[in-house]
Amino acid sequence: MRNNRPLVFADLDDTLFQTTRKMPAGAERHPATYDISGEPNGFMSATQKMLLEWLLGTADVVPVTARSVEAYSRVKIPFTSGAICSHGGVILGQSGEVDRDWHAHMAETLSDFQTRLPDLSATTLSIGQELGFSLRGWVVDEADLQHYVVIKHNESDDAVLAKVCAEVQARGMLEGMHIHGNGNNLAFLPNGLSKRFAVEEWLRRDRAIHGERLVIGLGDSITDLGFMDACNFWGTPARSQLAKAVGGLLHA
Ligand SMILES: [Mg+2]
Repeated sequence: MRNNRPLVFADLDDTLFQTTRKMPAGAERHPATYDISGEPNGFMSATQKMLLEWLLGTADVVPVTARSVEAYSRVKIPFTSGAICSHGGVILGQSGEVDRDWHAHMAETLSDFQTRLPDLSATTLSIGQELGFSLRGWVVDEADLQHYVVIKHNESDDAVLAKVCAEVQARGMLEGMHIHGNGNNLAFLPNGLSKRFAVEEWLRRDRAIHGERLVIGLGDSITDLGFMDACNFWGTPARSQLAKAVGGLLHA
């Protein structure tokens, strides 16, 4: 059956909402996400809320997030079309069920990384210690499958993560992997795990059912370009990492 509603793939953190640290003091704040104890920890600005309401009213909106399924469950926005979680490692259906075909595909793709990811996480933390930085890090896993490594600096100094990343790279530990870095968020991802691959799979399925329709991608990170480039049009918040990178090219 044809569907003429636009299909929108939207990154979540720092695109549709963010922590208060990134919002101007006194700005209107609408809770969008909660921590594990139920306290709000992510907020939409007034205009983000307007954007979200406009999108939900006029388009089929699919969140495309690095969040694990558990962290995504703490996003309290009424999405109804399913979701892509864990940097593309998990596809969730309309009722929140894990897509078994995609899971089987990812299990094969990630099989060589199952012991390597915990080792990489531990080694990166000890490199941080050697360099005198206080880091925390873990492997994001879903349904018994290790997906990727996340590293954060405990004092939220983004420059520290860049130094740690350079050192991990210099030691040749990222063979067959790619990097996502934005703010206090560094991730090491196996090749084959990406938001883009999951979006491409989603589009193959969507076109088989609905035919061609307008597809829009929204995201704030440079690495979001991977999936946004699979769309017809894309957008990024002003002053996002991606917007700054484009601005830097124009003024170089
Ligand atoms: Mg983001």
